[in-house]
Amino acid sequence: MTQLSLKATTPDQIDFDDNHLKITWKDGVTSTFELLDLRKRCPCVVCKGGHGGKVGTTTGGIQSIKLYSINKVGRYAINPVWSDNHQTGIYSFDGLRMLADGLGGDLTL
Ligand SMILES: [Zn+2]
Repeated sequence: MTQLSLKATTPDQIDFDDNHLKITWKDGVTSTFELLDLRKRCPCVVCKGGHGGKVGTTTGGIQSIKLYSINKVGRYAINPVWSDNHQTGIYSFDGLRMLADGLGGDLTL
């Protein structure tokens, strides 16, 4: 498994608009994520259809989504509050950076 540097997985700045989440990392790289894609990848148990389920099981039919806000979870993750009132997903910075760099799409911690 690829090891990312601490700088590569530490956000310097996090912004979002109606369609995208943008994270600028400490190593100077900026990653842009589509909100709909991120919502569908929600790693929480509910969205996976239960323990042991697959990411996206219950989110495949979502047509559009916006972000209300983002809560930071310690130093390692964010917890987005989505416009469908869903907010149990914890997205790790490691997972987000790996997704952005094409190293893997599973955001599970
Ligand atoms: Zn979820």
